[in-house]
Amino acid sequence: MAKFSEDDVYIFNKERECMQREDMKELQLKRLKNTVKYAYEHVDFYRDLYDKHNVHPDDIKTLEDIQKLPFITKDDLRKTYPFKLQAAPKEDWKEVHSTSGTTGIPTVAAYTQKDLDIWAESTARGLASVGVNPKSIVNVAYGFGLFTGGHGAQYGAQKIGALAVPMSSGNTPKQINFLKDFPADFLCCTPSYALFIAETMEKEGMDPKDLPLKGGLFGAEMWTEEIRAKLEEKFDISAQNIYGLTEVIGPGVSTECHMKDGMHIAEDHFYPEIIDPETLEVLPEGEEGEIVFTSLTKTGMPVIRYRTKDLTSLNYEKCKCGRTTVRMSRIKGRSDDMLKVKGVIVFPKQIEEVIMKVDELAPAYQIIVSRPDTLDEIEVQVEIDQANFSDSITDLETFRNKIAKSIKEAIGIGVKVTLAEPFTIPRSEGKAKRVIDKRDFS
Ligand SMILES: [Zn+2]
Repeated sequence: MAKFSEDDVYIFNKERECMQREDMKELQLKRLKNTVKYAYEHVDFYRDLYDKHNVHPDDIKTLEDIQKLPFITKDDLRKTYPFKLQAAPKEDWKEVHSTSGTTGIPTVAAYTQKDLDIWAESTARGLASVGVNPKSIVNVAYGFGLFTGGHGAQYGAQKIGALAVPMSSGNTPKQINFLKDFPADFLCCTPSYALFIAETMEKEGMDPKDLPLKGGLFGAEMWTEEIRAKLEEKFDISAQNIYGLTEVIGPGVSTECHMKDGMHIAEDHFYPEIIDPETLEVLPEGEEGEIVFTSLTKTGMPVIRYRTKDLTSLNYEKCKCGRTTVRMSRIKGRSDDMLKVKGVIVFPKQIEEVIMKVDELAPAYQIIVSRPDTLDEIEVQVEIDQANFSDSITDLETFRNKIAKSIKEAIGIGVKVTLAEPFTIPRSEGKAKRVIDKRDFS
């Protein structure tokens, strides 16, 4: 059975993805000037904002001049709900997408044909970097609908000339049958859902390795190197990271190549900056902070200095794969979903890293933060993996204490660890909900 091979990966758009830095900067500056002018002329919101800040599109003479422009946030997108940020005339809109709106009013973006082409191009770059070619079959198990996940992967696969199976998430038994019968060489979905597919197969006595899958692009939620190791081991694939957000275009803003050393940003379309989320200062290369994006070519809903809240860092060194496009590191967390517990900052990812290293635990967990009296408490629910649970672990109490100790070492504060029965912690078919914060902040 043909599994992943480095010989199968290639660079989709060499001209852009291997550009000299100076040429890239020149292209970015030209596009930035156009975008700022275009937004100023077509969107009242930008004109009012820039007038208020006393900046004008003509003030953009170098790339650094972008710092003269104010940031925009999700709040601005909500205030302009649904279509006040759209720059293109309505007759040019070809598709609309929206965030789930779970934390408030959803943000909505209309895409012109040009935007859809840019999106297809960016995801195609990512898919080529895991080895998708015109003969490939790509099973897309991200959700379809207003959510951008599924569509981006489908358009990218089709751009390459591959066959896309728009399976969407859910209906796992059917999903498994399709993966076998169609038969897909590549899978795109959230990492937690991919793990759930593997677990379901194992439960039914099937080996996920027997699927013809060679690789996949996984994203739309936070994940860790430990989850990658599990995915690669269980399916015998190359599991590569894909990043994106609806406000910018959707998944495909950046994707990892097979070197797995940061996600290459399609920076000829999306210009990145890293800022300190507190002071809003732009940080020097390599420092960790919040990533801010400016779309350089979008015509439907251009975003200029959009604060993503995602924490990462940038690496401008040429990658071993040959691409010169800047790489962003795996998302460390979101500046607004880091937990502050007993005054200590905790990222759910830190706890996940510990859990995933314990073979006897299933890749499912939940973090529950509460304040029973006046003090914060973290409870981490983990689940025993029956297949890997050795009979030699007879003392569950010691086992539990060992996990609690490792978590305390990782995050600096003590937690309560609870062992749950196999398959009792809710699995997710889309984005996993790992943290339940029961504290009342009102
Ligand atoms: Zn690379």
